[in-house]
Order: sequence, then structure tokens, then C-alpha cells
Amino acid sequence: MKYVHYHELLKTMHTKNLLIAAVTGLVMLFLLPACAVNPVSGSREVMLYSPEQEVSMGKKAHPQVLEKFGYYNDPKLQTYISAIGKRLTAHCERQDIPYHFTLIDSPIINAFALPGGYVYVSRGLLAEMNNEAQLAGVMGHELGHVNARHNMKRLQSTVGMNILVAAVGAATGSSLWQNVSGQLMGLISQKYSRSQERQADELGTRYMARAGYDPRQMSVFLQRLRQLHSHEPSALEAIMASHPLTSERVASTSFLAKKLLSHYPQAKTTNQNKYLNTIDGMLFGPGEKAGFVVDKTYTNVFCRLRFSIPEDMKLKSLKNGFVLNNDNSQQQLVFLYRELDHYLPPDALTDAFMEKYTTRLLSEREINIGQRVAMVRKYEVRDKRGRWQRLKITAISRQKFGYLFLALTGQTQKPGYISDNLSLLTRKAAEAIKLPRIGIYQVHKGDTLVMIAERLLDSAANAETLAGYNGLTGKFGLRQPLPVKMKLKIIPAYPKDSRDSSSINRQPSNIIASVLPKTLRSGSLSGVATWKKPALQVKTS
Ligand SMILES: [Zn+2]
Repeated sequence: MKYVHYHELLKTMHTKNLLIAAVTGLVMLFLLPACAVNPVSGSREVMLYSPEQEVSMGKKAHPQVLEKFGYYNDPKLQTYISAIGKRLTAHCERQDIPYHFTLIDSPIINAFALPGGYVYVSRGLLAEMNNEAQLAGVMGHELGHVNARHNMKRLQSTVGMNILVAAVGAATGSSLWQNVSGQLMGLISQKYSRSQERQADELGTRYMARAGYDPRQMSVFLQRLRQLHSHEPSALEAIMASHPLTSERVASTSFLAKKLLSHYPQAKTTNQNKYLNTIDGMLFGPGEKAGFVVDKTYTNVFCRLRFSIPEDMKLKSLKNGFVLNNDNSQQQLVFLYRELDHYLPPDALTDAFMEKYTTRLLSEREINIGQRVAMVRKYEVRDKRGRWQRLKITAISRQKFGYLFLALTGQTQKPGYISDNLSLLTRKAAEAIKLPRIGIYQVHKGDTLVMIAERLLDSAANAETLAGYNGLTGKFGLRQPLPVKMKLKIIPAYPKDSRDSSSINRQPSNIIASVLPKTLRSGSLSGVATWKKPALQVKTS
């Protein structure tokens, strides 16, 4: 990073006239020094915030990240992640910020960092890895972005430095903070430049080697991700968007590892068994709240229901429900559930959901579904373009859960479309359902990949997948006996469609999508979360 002159800085700022620029310049002169030394490169660059301000930004955004992605509630795994992080940060350039490492409850393969030393990895990422050194590599890469201040630089350029300085300066400047926090969350999926990626790889590989981890595992894992991308692109969408996985990255990290090993010959730690033992039993797939699909049936143990997917329909999971589509999107059914503070009758539930739309109620009637009274209402709803669309809502209330089914009227849905396919589970029945989890298998004498696949993954045909997951492709023949006591990661058989819980149909050109909240349409999870909990009217006598 080169020294940036003040006049160049003004040119790059998002200011529309000189007056604002001049005032901003004055403010900046009083607030902070114009240049800071980059901790990694040692060169000077414009950084208009203090480490304290950066930390306070990360601290404020952290709960929003947990809200969006979920915290994986397993103290053993969280402690493990933090310990690896601590081992790495001992070798980081920046010691002026505290570091935090969090495992998020997301099935998507992802890792990212926020300003202020907040680093996140997903359980979907952990499921793909085979040893601790690979995890250290990815965490090191994120630490590289933090240490070279890549994320702060991106934020400065998108938000504009003046707003950033003001927002972090004002402790409770809520509207300014809203602006910055939106951009901060946006950073998670924003692409780093090629040179930033290269630098983060270099730094990460160096941190891991200094911490004693085998630096070759970095390129091994990058290569694995590249392979995976050709089979399962949707699972890697998130990490690919922010950290492009080029073949150059694999080659250059491999080259760098060789160089590093000559400097740090003791860097041989992989901790394979320790890693596998720690992820043993970790949830796999969408998880409890998102539900899962097996044998054309959607099951959600959290809100306790099952839905049989009709023959001609395809299901996409949402964070709080699902979308059913037929091939040409002529038919669509959206299911959303919400955890409420108190019981709400179905009519109040529907009112709360429709509150933010301009609607005309056409009809309402009560039907029975699973021994419960459901409210069916037909509405005309004004969409974003001002056109009136017809929408049918079926609402069911159940203790502290509200279920809503949204469909277009005029579609040829048979009566009973919902009630015939829906079953409500008792608490006991829901608790008895086992969610898919990662298992660890210890190889016995004479075991081969084919034998293990046959026994634990239903079919010998899964032997190759088993080899891939365990990084054994090309190392052992499928029918070759494996070393005794070797440990293997067993990934439960899982339909790929339901694994991708973060996205819904990418072509939402149909009518129902147009009346749904925008965030839901674009595939973001937050759309469902913005459905406000209705204020409950408590009658007092
Ligand atoms: Zn990166």
C-alpha cells in the first residue's frame, strides 16, 4: 500500500462538492492523523479510525452476525475454535485488538472476518475439513484480511470515510450506525480483490507455519474446495463470492508452503484424530430450525411438523420455512413459521403478517387441519408495481408457533392440498427424530472404502464420495485395505437440495414472489426475520 496524499484522498471520497470535502477534511484533521502504518506491509496508508473504533464497530456488528447466521451451541467446539485462533494470533502482526472466533450454525461452506478481530467459520466448512491444520489455514487466511486491514479498507471505500468516522465516533448515533452496519453485513459477501486474496493466503500460510501447523494443508484444502465446486456449486456460493478460488491460489500456497517448511521444519502438526474426534456428532445439513428433506418429506423438529412434497413439486428450504415450486413456477406454495412470545389465534397471526401490505380482504373461512382450526383468507395484495395480486393465506396457531401457508389463488390447487400433506408432530415424536450428524468411524482390520460405504452409507457406490470427504482420493484404492485405527469421517447421506438452506429459487419472476418481502425474494434469510412479532393485546378484567 502506497502513501496516499491528502488531495488523492479527497478525490476518492464519496463527497459531492468541495464544501463538504473541506468540512470533512477539517473534521478529520481534528479527529485523527491522516496516515497510519499498515501493520503488515509497514507502509503508510490512510486509516481514519483508531483500533478502538474498529473494535467497537466489530463489537456492535457481532450480535447481528449471530442473528443472521446463528451461533452453533456446542461449548466443546467453540472452545476448540478459539484455542486454534489463539495459537495463530500469537503470530499475527496486529496485537492492538482482541480477537474473537465463532463457529456459526450454517450448513453453507463459509468463513469471514469483520473489523475489530471478529473471525467466523461455519459448521458447513468444518464438515469439509479433515484436520486441524486445514482449519488453521482458513482461519489464518481470515486473520490475514484483518491484519492487512482489507475489510476496513473496503468499508472505507463503500461507506465513505466521513460517515464512518462520524458513526463510530458517535457512541449512539443510531441512524448513522444503521447505515454503516448495513454495509458491514454487506462486506461478508463482498469480493476481495485478487491481490488481497493473495496477501491473505500468504499471511495465513505464514501464521499457520509459525504456529507449528503443516502449511501444505492450506493448498490441500483449497484444492478440495475447487474439486467440490464442480460437483456442488451451491454449497460454495458464499465463500466463492467473497474469496474467489482460483487455481493460482492452490499453486501459490503450495509453493509458499515449501519455502516456509525450510524455515520452520518443525511445522508438521495436522492433529487429524483430534480434529475428527472434536467434530464427531456435529450437526450436518440445514439443522434443527431450517428443517430437512428425506424421501420427499420435509421435517422440521423445531416447529414440529412434517409436509409431504407433492410429486410434481420441488422444495427449497428457508431459514423459517420452505418454498414449493413446480417446474415452470406456475404453482408455488410458501410456508413460513414463526416462534411467538405468546399464543396468537390464526386470524391475529394473519393480520400481523399482512400488516405491512396494502390489502383488500376478499373472503375468510375456518377449516380443520390436524385437529386444529385453521383460518383461510383470500386477499388482494398490492405488489411493488401497484398491481393487485390475489393471495390465499392459511394460518394455523399452535402454542407458541404460528404457521402460514401462502399460495396464489386461481391456481389449480386441489382442496385439501395443505391438510392432506401436513402432519403436526407431538413433542415426543419430534424429539425422537434424529437429525443428521457427522460420525467418526475407526477402521478395523481388512476394512476397505467400499466395505465401509456399503455398511454405513447404504451403498458401495458411495465409496468414492467417502474417499473425497476424507481426502483419500488417489491415496487408497476403493478395495484396498485401509490402515488399522485410521479414522474416517462419515457424512450422512443427505439430499443436496435441502442442504442449500440459504437460497431459494433464483428465478423469482412469478407473481407470488412479487408480493413477498424483497429480502425473501432475493434469497436472503433476513426477510423472514423481519416479520415483526405482533404486539399482543392482553385483556384485563
Ligand atoms: Zn479471502
